[in-house]
Amino acid sequence: MININWDTFCSELSEIETIQEPNQRQKLSQDYYHFSPILQPLLKDKIGDIVVRPTTEAEVLQVAKVCVKYKVPLTVRGAGTGNYGQCIPLEGGVILDLTKLNQINWIKPGLACVEPGVKLATFDKQAREIGWELRMIPSTYRTATIGGFIEGGSGGIGSITYGQLRDRGNLQAARVVTMEDEPRIIELRGDQVQKINHAYGTNGIITALEIPLAPVYPWAEMIVTFDDFMTSARFGQALALSDGIIKKLVCVCAAPIPAYFAAFKNIIPSGKNAALLMISEANLEPFQELVKEYGGTICYQKSSEETGKGSTLIEYTWNHTTLHARSVDPSITYLQTLLPADRKLELLEHLYDHFGDEVMQHLEFVRLQGEMYPIALQLVRFTTEERLNEIMNYHEEKGAIIFNPHTYILEDGGMKTINLEQLQFKQEVDPYGLLNPGKMKAWLEREKHLEN
Ligand code: FAD
Repeated sequence: MININWDTFCSELSEIETIQEPNQRQKLSQDYYHFSPILQPLLKDKIGDIVVRPTTEAEVLQVAKVCVKYKVPLTVRGAGTGNYGQCIPLEGGVILDLTKLNQINWIKPGLACVEPGVKLATFDKQAREIGWELRMIPSTYRTATIGGFIEGGSGGIGSITYGQLRDRGNLQAARVVTMEDEPRIIELRGDQVQKINHAYGTNGIITALEIPLAPVYPWAEMIVTFDDFMTSARFGQALALSDGIIKKLVCVCAAPIPAYFAAFKNIIPSGKNAALLMISEANLEPFQELVKEYGGTICYQKSSEETGKGSTLIEYTWNHTTLHARSVDPSITYLQTLLPADRKLELLEHLYDHFGDEVMQHLEFVRLQGEMYPIALQLVRFTTEERLNEIMNYHEEKGAIIFNPHTYILEDGGMKTINLEQLQFKQEVDPYGLLNPGKMKAWLEREKHLEN
C-alpha cells in the first residue's frame, strides 16, 4: 500500500470517477493469472489502492500528472483477461481502468482508429457493416479491449492468415500518454509502434490506436473428428497450408480434451480427436475433399448466417480450451509452445508419445514470417513446480520454444531477451519507473545496476 492521503489525491482529479471500495478494488486488481499454479501464490494478495476511470485522453493526462506529482505507481487495466498478471499492480497505487475510453474514432476500408477501451466484439460488429473486421482476435474477444490485446496479447483467431500482433503491419500507429514531470502525448507511427507493442503498459498509456483490418468472409464453423491424433494434426497442417481455402481458425485438440467441452458433449463422440475450424463458406466443397482425404468426419457445422449468434467455436479454442478444461478439473494448467514448421510434425509426434496423458496436445496453426507453425497450448496435469519445469525444459532441449505462461516478467514469457528499444522508451517517458512496476526485467536490472 502507498502511504498518501487518497482523499487529497482524489481532490486533484476533479470530476474523474474514482473507486476506493475494497471489494471493487480487489476485483479490478485481478486477471486470469490463476491458470498458473506458480503465479497463484505470488499474485493473489496484490491490490491497487484506488481505481481511476477516465473517459477522455485529457483526463488520462490529468491522472498521469497527479501520479507523477505524488510518485504513485500506475497500472493500466483493460478488461483484466490477461493470463500472467499483466495488469495486477505489484506495488499497489492507481489502477487506471480504461474501459470508458471506448470511442471508435473512424473506420474506413482496411483501417480503423479506436480508443483503447473498445471491446473487440463491439468493434467487429460495427466494422462488419462495411465489410471489414479485425485481422486477429483473442478467444476473449467478447470482453477484452483492443488496448489490452495490443499490450498484453499476442494473436489468436485470424493469426493463421495475418500472423501475430508484433508482425510489421498489424499495428499502424498509437497515441501514448507519458509519465514525465509534465506528461505529454506522443504519436508513434510505423516501426516506432514496436516501442510499446506488447510491453504490458510499462512504458506508456495508449489513448488511441490505428489498426489495419481484414476483409470479412462468410465464416462457417465446423468440427471434424478423427480416431487418431497424428492424423488430426496432419489434417490441420494440410488445411493450414491449403492456400486456396480461406480460413480463420485451425485448432486441433487431442482426446480427451473435447470431453471437457460440455456444449459439445452430444456432438463430439467420446474418445475422438477434434479439429475446430472456421472456413469461408464459399470454400466448403474443396474443404470437404480434404476432410475425405484424411478420413475425418464432420460432426458439427454452423452456417455463416448463424456464426456469431449464440455460442461460438472461438470460445473453445486458444486459451478458452484451457478455461473449459479447468472448469472440469482445476488442477490442470497449460504451456505455450512454438513447435517447428516441420511438414512431418516429428517433434509433435515425439512429444505426444513421450508425455502421453500428462501433457494433452492442443494446437493452433499460425502463419509466422511466411511459414505455417503449430503453436501448442498443451494442457498439463500439474503435480509439482519441479515437474512443470522439467516438462518445459524437455520441450526446449528437443527444439521447441516455450513462451512461459508461469511468469509475470515481460521478458521471461515470450521474448527471453531484453528489448532495448522498449527499455530506452521507458527511460524517456517514465523516468520515475511508475508504470506497472516490477514487470519489465530490463528496468529492474537497470535499477539494481544504478544502486551498486
Ligand atoms: P488486460 O488484461 O486488462 O491488460 C493486458 C495488459 O495490457 C496489461 O499489462 C495492461 O497494463 C496493459 N494495458 C491495457 N490497456 C492499456 C493501455 N491503454 N495502455 C497501456 N497498457 C495497457 N490472448 C491472446 O493473445 N490470444 C488469445 O486467443 C487469448 N485467449 C485467452 C483466453 C482466455 C480464457 C483468457 C483468460 C485469456 C486469453 N488471452 C489471449 C489473454 C487476454 O485475454 C488477451 O490478451 C486480451 O486481449 C487482453 O485484453 P484485456 O482488455 O483483458 O487486457
